[in-house]
Amino acid sequence: MIQTKNNQLYIEGLSFKDLADQYGTPLYIYDQAALEKRMETYYNTFTSPLFETKVLYASKAFLCKAMVKLAQKHSLCLDVVSGGELYIAKQAGFNMDRVYFHGNNKTEAELRQAIDYGVHTIVLDNLDEAKRLVRLSQNSTKPIHALLRINPGIEAHTHAYIVTAHIDSKFGILKSEIDTIETIIQTCDEADNVIFDGFHAHIGSQIFDPKAFIAEIETMAEFIATLQKKMERTFSVLDLGGGFAAYYTQEDAPIPIETICPLIVNTCEAMQEKYSLSLKEILIEPGRSIVAEAGYSLYTIGSIKKTPHKQYAFVDGGMSDNIRPALYQAAYRSDLVEKMDQEKKETYCIAGKCCESGDILIERASLPLAEENDLLVVYTTGAYGYSMASNYNALCIPAIVFVKDGQSKLVVRRQCFEDLIEKDMEDPV
Ligand SMILES: *Cc1c(COP(=O)(O)O)cnc(C)c1O
Repeated sequence: MIQTKNNQLYIEGLSFKDLADQYGTPLYIYDQAALEKRMETYYNTFTSPLFETKVLYASKAFLCKAMVKLAQKHSLCLDVVSGGELYIAKQAGFNMDRVYFHGNNKTEAELRQAIDYGVHTIVLDNLDEAKRLVRLSQNSTKPIHALLRINPGIEAHTHAYIVTAHIDSKFGILKSEIDTIETIIQTCDEADNVIFDGFHAHIGSQIFDPKAFIAEIETMAEFIATLQKKMERTFSVLDLGGGFAAYYTQEDAPIPIETICPLIVNTCEAMQEKYSLSLKEILIEPGRSIVAEAGYSLYTIGSIKKTPHKQYAFVDGGMSDNIRPALYQAAYRSDLVEKMDQEKKETYCIAGKCCESGDILIERASLPLAEENDLLVVYTTGAYGYSMASNYNALCIPAIVFVKDGQSKLVVRRQCFEDLIEKDMEDPV
């Protein structure tokens, strides 16, 4: 929880200033209590008398061993999309029977790794991959579950959603490609070690409109009903993906978890009845919505520079620790953590230190008068910040600190210069 006292900003009882002194900047700070609260809320509100329910944390939003351990502690399942993410989950001791492996091009090595680790479910993307899985599963000691990713033709981004959009998406099989879908299911059904459970869809990210999820469920239910009749076979699992929005700026009004979860459950229950489906289990995969608002980026301002039309505040990080503004004009709020009571009468362009004109974190930030050495916090940076961080300009990736009940823990150390050449091997020939 965030609090202001005597001009200073605090998180879980610790001042940002003290955190900067102890761990340095730039720094990723996570409110552990907030992370846990959101996981608990998902777990407690995504329940149904009719279905088994599972909440999968989409680990690509923010992944490190400490985060995996929190997900395990709060009984979530984990969604991974690469051998690397799977490795991190394994190294953190995550129960592999709760892991779902996504991705549009899982390599042979990744599928072997998943089978070897005993991953619960592979979410298949296409026919080649289904055949690959069937071949590799032949030597497996236990059966592996499979879902198929369907492109329902619904695309939702931020405030709008479109039906019959994005038919050329690289993800999944378009719901109208019935022959291919049947072939994939038959390929799995004929294998001894693959159990085909049902379908997965994921319609976008930062979705505000509950109607988008309702449209997704209705479309998937109708699709499953058609296939059920055609193949004379039932399907037990429907995985609805993630995309639940987070609060970044005053313009954002995300649907509360307590509202969207029952709405999804009720819609699934109604569709089960309407289409005489035989679903036993429904799944959701929140990523951003669990971690975004629990994360904060703390920077030190190095210089203020005035140009004819702008006033810049330069920070000691930038697109290397948060590429979202450069990548898709993501907007953020910020504060000077030691000037909380001062009037915000200046406007700054918050720019990083990378050699790119696009290296801007906030285009127009309202702040009190800023000076060299002021500490700047950027809010809601918990999702797709660290996980998309890079070593551009050989900047070191910041440390990650978790805070809770007045205590702080360094869960990922800051990169050091030695890390930057650790992989370099031989001199040129
Ligand atoms: C990215 C992704 C998610 C999580 O998306 P958020 O917007 O972070 O909730 C879930 N499922 C799949 C398949 C994804 O690709």
